[in-house]
Amino acid sequence: MSQIYADIIIDISHEAIDRTFQYMVPAELENSIEIGMQVQVPFGQSNRNRKGYVINLTDIPNFDVDKMKSISGIPDKSLQIEGKLIKLAAWIRKNYGATMFDALKTVMPVKEKIRKTAKKISEKEFNLTKPPVMNLNESQQMLIDEFVAHQEDGDFKTYLLHGVTGSGKTEVYIGCIKEVVKKGKQAIVLIPEIGLTYQNLARFRQHFGDRVALINSKQSKGEKYEEFMRAKNHEVDVIIGPRSALFTPCQNLGLIIIDEEHDGAYKSDQTPKYHAREVAIERARLEDASVILGSATPTIESYSLAKLGKYHLWELPFRPYGMELSSVSVVDMREELRLGNRSIVSKELYEMINDRLTKKEQIMLFINRRGFNTFVSCRECGEVIKCPKCDVSLSLHNNGFMMCHYCGHVERTVKECPSCKSKLIGGFGTGTQKVEEEINRLFPQAKTLRMDKDTTSKKGSQSEILSEFLDNKADILIGTQMIVKGHDFENVTLVGIMLADLSLFDNDYRSGERTFDLLTQAAGRAGRGDKKGHVLIQTYQPEHYAIVAASNQDYEGFFDTEMTYRRLLKYPPVYNMMVVLLTSLTYEDVSIASEELTKTIKNSILDDKNVRVIGPSDATITRIKDLYRRVIYVKTKDINQLENIRNLVDTYEKDGIKVAVDVNPVNMY
Ligand code: ADP
Ligand code: ZN
Ligand code: ZN
Repeated sequence: MSQIYADIIIDISHEAIDRTFQYMVPAELENSIEIGMQVQVPFGQSNRNRKGYVINLTDIPNFDVDKMKSISGIPDKSLQIEGKLIKLAAWIRKNYGATMFDALKTVMPVKEKIRKTAKKISEKEFNLTKPPVMNLNESQQMLIDEFVAHQEDGDFKTYLLHGVTGSGKTEVYIGCIKEVVKKGKQAIVLIPEIGLTYQNLARFRQHFGDRVALINSKQSKGEKYEEFMRAKNHEVDVIIGPRSALFTPCQNLGLIIIDEEHDGAYKSDQTPKYHAREVAIERARLEDASVILGSATPTIESYSLAKLGKYHLWELPFRPYGMELSSVSVVDMREELRLGNRSIVSKELYEMINDRLTKKEQIMLFINRRGFNTFVSCRECGEVIKCPKCDVSLSLHNNGFMMCHYCGHVERTVKECPSCKSKLIGGFGTGTQKVEEEINRLFPQAKTLRMDKDTTSKKGSQSEILSEFLDNKADILIGTQMIVKGHDFENVTLVGIMLADLSLFDNDYRSGERTFDLLTQAAGRAGRGDKKGHVLIQTYQPEHYAIVAASNQDYEGFFDTEMTYRRLLKYPPVYNMMVVLLTSLTYEDVSIASEELTKTIKNSILDDKNVRVIGPSDATITRIKDLYRRVIYVKTKDINQLENIRNLVDTYEKDGIKVAVDVNPVNMY
């Protein structure tokens, strides 16, 4: 037998050696070695043992065999990456920028064999919902018929299912999955982590029984491994999970569904900063599968692609017969203040809550709290208590401590202003706790539940709170974004949105879109039962287009206005945008480096009018964990041009400076 050589990607996160290295495969490994396997190899001068992945096997050496080292072994717990996922990793690396090793790690969310029988979700937890005894309506059936026709033709499309909240999108997903399962194929269903409720899973269980695997971040490594293997061995037909479940190895993938495709959680916040929607479409292309993206509020990106015909647009504009969309009213909080009401509860909301309490109906109060916390400030001199390591204010928790949400720094709440010594210092802002306190003061007879980061940090506490509310053990559920995702509460007839405009203060181009999404999703929680629901939006900016569109439940109108702004301001999806983030321990170093890199980029594009380089400037948060942050923005319509610039940025090296890129970012920098 002739000698075999292996091309190996080695575990070193360094651009300069981000390439394959060739090793000899020793005779004793010849029969077991395969592409995708993890191996141990001696590396560098010192011949230190390093981990690597085999990405190619050949019998032609690419350099002097006398100098070539041999693979030292195969770790026995390691899992093999599928060939198709290696291709996907290469695509991720090319599109988002990363070392090949990082890209390989990304497509392998479960890396080790760990024996452990998964704790099965108990039947009781699954019985939170009564089985939906229903026939698909005409609109739903039409979509599924069309899907079947495309499947018969071997035409594997990307569909965008735009359906109002409660229009029955999940039933369409289930119908389509049944079709691919009939053909012996598997489906991956991505759901934002927060929406992975038992209620949601139970619906899939009712149709696919035991042949459903579930992956979530609260599982142990062993539990995840078990579920992965069930998928890999085709012991399950459906895999449900958050973003990383996209990389579940499947024997025969037929369909990828991304529910709530507008959700920010589909974009990875670690290098490679990939977007699950884009990667899903590429994976589907590699494996002849279809993709369904579903949302009541599709991203501007997806909807414009659907309008251009790149995605196949499906619309479900109505809820099934008998279930009406809720009515909506808007309260101008400025007016409320003028009338002398200083409470965070407007007069109209007060009366409506009272009415529901007497009727024994339930209420949800939603606080749009993203990027907004209760911070500690001095009423006399205006001093705000900030984290010593980050340029952000500390958040007040009611346990007597203040905390930094960026680095975890904790300190005791101050009793006097460190600047002017005034005792008039305290919490400011409207957190969920504040709202709960106010509701308890106004409605002492009502039983309230609160759901936010603080009350749900324990494993299982989220579903406990939800099932308590579902069992009518409380009248009012108060919460953040968490309460707007995918839960059906039949007895909820009022949804109050406390401060609709808070998310408009985020200074990034998606804040309008995010606000519209949140309001629409929150509004969609009311009236899920037989009784019609009402949504009350409290805002300081009732004239803002995102709030106007949300109160009219007018997605098209919102889309048109938003696209006009994006076009005008050259933002995605009209332009591609890349952020280059530089960080360093001193402000001076990062300033010099960012000026230098900006010049390099500008020189490389000469006077190409199609590329705009903006900055350098300070990032929105100028310091995190002692590191100063500067940003450069690059905008262009041509994605290849962006790739060239990214490659250029990758080669930039300077002592003490870290450079990271994010293509079409979802969050502000
Ligand atoms: P979405 O995913 O669009 O928010 P769901 O699929 O959760 O909507 O459906 C909303 C509600 O309507 C659920 O309670 C579901 O059981 C019900 N439903 C869906 N399709 C039908 C139908 N054809 N007939 C009656 N009820 C339906
Ligand atoms: Zn901090
Ligand atoms: Zn002060």
